[in-house]
Amino acid sequence: MSDAVIVIDMLNDFVTGKIEAERAQNIIPTLRDELLPAARAHDVPVIYANDAHRPEDFELEVWGEHAMRGTAGAAVIPELEPEADDHIFEKRFYDAFYGTGLDQHLRSLGVDRLVMTGLHTNMCVRHSSATGFFNGYEIIVPKDCVDAFTEDEHENGLDYLERVYNADLTTAAALIEEWEAAA
Ligand code: ZN
Repeated sequence: MSDAVIVIDMLNDFVTGKIEAERAQNIIPTLRDELLPAARAHDVPVIYANDAHRPEDFELEVWGEHAMRGTAGAAVIPELEPEADDHIFEKRFYDAFYGTGLDQHLRSLGVDRLVMTGLHTNMCVRHSSATGFFNGYEIIVPKDCVDAFTEDEHENGLDYLERVYNADLTTAAALIEEWEAAA
């Protein structure tokens, strides 16, 4: 198994800005202090999939302007600042794959298992997991590293990921243990 951690939309506009999800605060310490440092230490690629919208994007009709390309709102939150060896992909839809070249990149890295993290369990994490599943990746979701606007949306999102994409619902600690055991 070769893993990659996908960090979805942990951007200023999603966490504290235009479409703030207060619950994002729940997952920041686990990502910052546990999962991401462990991934980097075990040579598991950390891949940021960041909204970077252009004014003509369809999605803005649903959500209004958010994470506009090049603005502070579209920057990764300071707590999770990418490091030099991390990989950064800009996206214009919910799906981290759509039109981004992410699939080719993951294949060139030899990745076959995606660890999905970030926002929101029932939207971008779900759509990105869908394409990951369609492309033959195994989907792993540490439940303490994804969240949504509400508890219901989060829980329903997790159920859907497990039922439809055969996602393995785990925790950051269990995953880190697995990486350590394999090292
Ligand atoms: Zn968006």
